[in-house]
Amino acid sequence: MGDLRSRLAAIDERIADAARAAGRDPSELTRIVVTKFHPASLVEELYDLGVRDVGENRQQEFSRKVGEVGSLAGLRWHFIGQAQTNKARAIRAAASVVHSLDRARLADALDAAAEPGDPSLDVLLQVNLTDDPGRGGVAPAELEALAAHTAALPSLRVRGVMAVAPLDEPPAPAFARLNALAGVVRAVVPDADWISAGMTADFAEAIAAGATHLRIGSAITGPRPEPG
Ligand SMILES: *Cc1c(COP(=O)(O)O)cnc(C)c1O
Repeated sequence: MGDLRSRLAAIDERIADAARAAGRDPSELTRIVVTKFHPASLVEELYDLGVRDVGENRQQEFSRKVGEVGSLAGLRWHFIGQAQTNKARAIRAAASVVHSLDRARLADALDAAAEPGDPSLDVLLQVNLTDDPGRGGVAPAELEALAAHTAALPSLRVRGVMAVAPLDEPPAPAFARLNALAGVVRAVVPDADWISAGMTADFAEAIAAGATHLRIGSAITGPRPEPG
């Protein structure tokens, strides 16, 4: 716990430094701690340290952990992984925010999974910044149509964009493209001003390029156990 506390503090310090270096106010940033592969007890430890945003990328593990942790006031679960359409109901039931909406069929499935009286679900449109269609995310050329489609669904609220930096290019130019693509979404949904970008290796570049939501795992949690 002591180690966790000091790693969390160290990262928050680096986030604040990167924000100030970019002329931004650190309080504009939401730091999501990615807890994938770690036990539910880590989420509880993080909560005790004041963390209120955690991220998971695999639906089964996500649903199980949300059940194990139970309700903790103010805790928000972010789903950041590739989502199968037939798991939309489970994802919707567990997530406060879905970062990985990347196709119209998934949007339709998440919308159809709403129970009567559910609050609207915050979603981010994941953009593929690479030429490899296997990496997840909508192609930039199709982003505007996906934004329009999703914005028309009654139970989803489009909040912005999400991306993972490519492996084969420096992060800064890729995040600059993402920033421009965020403008494409805002042309459809004017208040969709979230940009989810930046992981352990590249959060400073993401902050410089306008990220509002950082998804940081191993720098805070330590090395991940083998996926179980
Ligand atoms: C695992 C993961 C992260 C966090 O990665 P780290 O390098 O451990 O910070 C962020 N975003 C997504 C989509 C992930 O799957």
